[in-house]
Amino acid sequence: MSKEITPRAQDYAQWYNDLVLKGGLADYSAVRGCMVIKPYGFSLWENMRDALDKMFKDTGHVNAYFPLFIPKSFLSREAAHVEGFAKECAVVTHYRLKNDPNGNGVIVDPEAKLEEELIVRPTSETIIWNTYKDWIQSYRDLPILVNQWANVVRWEMRTRLFLRTAEFLWQEGHTAHATKEEAEAEAKKMLEVYAQFAEEYMALPVIKGVKTETERFAGAVDTYCIEALMQDGKALQAGTSHFLGQNFAKAFDVQFLNKENKQEYVWATSWGVSTRLVGALVMAHSDDDGLVLPPKIAPLQVVIVPIYKGDEQKAMIDAKAEEILTTLRKMGIRAQYDGSDNVRPGWKFAEYEMKGVPVRIVLGARDLANNQVEIARRDTKAKETISADGMYAYIEKLLEDIQNSIFNKAKAYRDEHITPVDTWDEFVKVLDEKGGFVFAHWDGTAETENEIKEKTKATIRCIPIDGSGVEEGSCILTGKPSKQRVLFARAY
Ligand code: AMP
Repeated sequence: MSKEITPRAQDYAQWYNDLVLKGGLADYSAVRGCMVIKPYGFSLWENMRDALDKMFKDTGHVNAYFPLFIPKSFLSREAAHVEGFAKECAVVTHYRLKNDPNGNGVIVDPEAKLEEELIVRPTSETIIWNTYKDWIQSYRDLPILVNQWANVVRWEMRTRLFLRTAEFLWQEGHTAHATKEEAEAEAKKMLEVYAQFAEEYMALPVIKGVKTETERFAGAVDTYCIEALMQDGKALQAGTSHFLGQNFAKAFDVQFLNKENKQEYVWATSWGVSTRLVGALVMAHSDDDGLVLPPKIAPLQVVIVPIYKGDEQKAMIDAKAEEILTTLRKMGIRAQYDGSDNVRPGWKFAEYEMKGVPVRIVLGARDLANNQVEIARRDTKAKETISADGMYAYIEKLLEDIQNSIFNKAKAYRDEHITPVDTWDEFVKVLDEKGGFVFAHWDGTAETENEIKEKTKATIRCIPIDGSGVEEGSCILTGKPSKQRVLFARAY
């Protein structure tokens, strides 16, 4: 198989696909829009999942599981929700196949029609709030802080490996609260958790913001989001946290007796991140030689490659490699020795660079004799020969350095690509020639937002919640008054 990667500058989309496919993360499948996540890619997702799961539990959440299917009538209970999801629903209508009497294999048995059609969940608010009705009677039953790890299906027309698939893996938190303030605080808290996860584990700098009405989750009162920037200057929504108000409680009649002994509708949030994050990781850090993965979530952190002539040298190096491996693993470092003898070292170097293994140790016969090792880092490709005695402390520190420098590099690029502009001409010019986020005034109407999208393909990614950009100005398109700059970008 050719390991050639299309350079970023030549064709960014193809570069991305090459990395996902040749880096062993995923494959296309027989089902349109659905992918096969391969072991290496799944291991990456597992590391992300484990870190997130711990953060959820540390903030008081517990995991549960709800059905894959949602009765069609449930979806229609919340008007905005069904409106938003209707266009991308997979619907189960029958429960049996039978042999075709005309001899054309199997067909759907028309007699096995479901009385009520089932929707393969695109998100689980409805089935969960139908359940919460049974769980919640009084304020003593609140809050409910539940998360679910699951797969969902949204029949997307234009799909991209990891970034946008018809079926994807994700987690969805669904919480229930006695007060509006508490629910709002929860939605914001989980946004912080996502931002912290993205920055600390994925080395991905993100902007925290709130979506405009047009971009809001169907059924939410407010959608908070983290937005990241990819290396081609396009933005990517990396996670969302919704304040749902009492919309779902009203749709499913979930009331509780409050402390004043009055019936009140329950307040809700939901929040999710998906396997899209794997795509974000690839697009944010990798280069023309392959993946660049942050050590904290890289499936493999250190690989040892031997260089030898003859069996005698090989045996010596094998023994030393085993010793190093044992120590590294004891330190909690994910390490592997590639002693296979069917490919040359150069091939192995290229392979592990492609796979984004952060640190490579090369062990040669001369190194062994001199009690030294060569250590190379994937992100900068810098190599250093150091004494074998000091290698463990060195590697531990190196993994931290790589994590930090990947983050700093992405952050420098991101910061460099937030451009405040004040005129329409500048706005278009920056979008076309530089890309990234354009920080501009907008008159606050959906009409203007849509017109800007039609004219430039740029959408409002978010209104930053840190208060940056709050100032008097005039809309980039209409010239009408504005109190706040918002972040526009072309996006995935
Ligand atoms: P939502 O429920 O629409 O707020 O989405 C929750 C999370 O899933 C967000 O982080 C989205 O970016 C992500 N997401 C939405 N649609 C897809 C898709 N088709 N493939 C992968 N991830 C998605």
